[in-house]
Amino acid sequence: MKAFMPRIEISLAKIQHNARMLCQLYGQRGISLMGVSKAVLGEPLIAEAMIRGGVKFIADSRLENIQKMKIARISTRFVLLRTALSQAKFVVEDVDISLNTEIETIKELDHYAKIQHKIHQIILMVEMGDLREGILPRDLFPFIEQVLSLPYIKIVGLGCNLACYGGIKPDEPKMRQLSELTDAVEQKFPIGLSLISGGNSANYEWYKSAPEIGRINNLRVGESILLGCGTVNRQAIPQLHTNAFKLIAEVIESKVKPSIPFGEVCQDAFGNVPVFRDRGIHNRAIIALGKQDTLISGLTCARSMEILGSSSDHVVIDSKHFGLKVGVGVDFNLDYGSLLAAMTSPFIKKQFM
Ligand SMILES: *Cc1c(COP(=O)(O)O)cnc(C)c1O
Repeated sequence: MKAFMPRIEISLAKIQHNARMLCQLYGQRGISLMGVSKAVLGEPLIAEAMIRGGVKFIADSRLENIQKMKIARISTRFVLLRTALSQAKFVVEDVDISLNTEIETIKELDHYAKIQHKIHQIILMVEMGDLREGILPRDLFPFIEQVLSLPYIKIVGLGCNLACYGGIKPDEPKMRQLSELTDAVEQKFPIGLSLISGGNSANYEWYKSAPEIGRINNLRVGESILLGCGTVNRQAIPQLHTNAFKLIAEVIESKVKPSIPFGEVCQDAFGNVPVFRDRGIHNRAIIALGKQDTLISGLTCARSMEILGSSSDHVVIDSKHFGLKVGVGVDFNLDYGSLLAAMTSPFIKKQFM
C-alpha cells in the first residue's frame, strides 16, 4: 500500500533530542524551560517527547490544546500563554499557571478559583517594547496591588514576550530591566517571585552572549525545540535537528511547459496580477498541496527544486532535471508558519516516526 499524501513525518526522537540539548544548555545557568506546544496543536506525543527531553512545563496559547493533552493523560504542569476572560472557569479547572495582563480577567479567575476551592497561579506579563501583551512597567505596582486583594490568585512570577509582534530583540538591557522590576516588586510587596520567564526561542543569542542572566530563570520555547533554530535570525542551533518535521506531497502533473503564462493578463485566484521570470521551456510539476493546507512561502523543496507559485490546492514547482513521475512524493522543509498551518490542516496526515 502506498503511504498517504500529503503527510507530515514527525520524528519524536529528534524533538526529544532537541528538548534535551536545550534543557542542558539553559539548565547550565539555572534556566528551566516550558515546552511550547501550540504550533503542533498540543499533540500529546510531541508534548511527551518534550517532557522526556526534560522540559518542566508544557505551555500552549490555546486552552483546547491543553485540554486535549490532559485527556491524553500527559502529566506535567500546564501553562496557558493567552488567557481570555470568557474561558476563566476552564482556565482555573485545567491550567496550573496562566499568563495575564488584565485585571478584569484576573478577577474572573479569582471568582472561579473560589468556587473550585483552588488558588490559581498567574504570571504577570510586562510590556517591554514588542507591543503585544504586557502591563506597562509604570502601571505594574498599582496592578499588583489590585491583584493582591484577590484571595484566590497567587502571583508566581513575571514574564515578558519579545520578537513576536513588533520584532524587538530580547537583549541585555531588556532582560536587565525585567530582573530589576522583579527585585523592585519583591522589595515593595511581601511576595516572592519564583518564575521569571524572560522570553521565547528568540532569547538564544541573548543567553549565549550575556555575561549575567540576572533573575531570569525560565524561558518558553517552541520553535527551537521543534525546528532547531533561534528566532532572532533563524540560524540553526549547534547540535540540534532542524528536520524533525518533513512534509511530503504528491506529484499530480509533470510536463515540459513554458515558464511565462500566455494570453491576456488578468488577476489570479487571489486578486493579484502575478509577474513571472522567463525560465524558457522547462520541467514543471504540480504538487497536490495548496494555500488551504499550509503557508507555501515557508516551504523549501528538499533537493534543488524551486517553488514557483501556488493556488488553493496546487503548488507549481520547477522540477529542474529531476524527471519527477506522476504519483511520487516530493519532500519539503517547513518554517514555523508553515508548520503551524500544516499541523492545522485536516487534509495533511500526521505520521509519527
Ligand atoms: C508562542 C509563544 C512562545 C513560544 O515562542 P517560540 O518562538 O515558538 O519559542 C512563548 N511565549 C508566548 C507568550 C507565546 O505566545
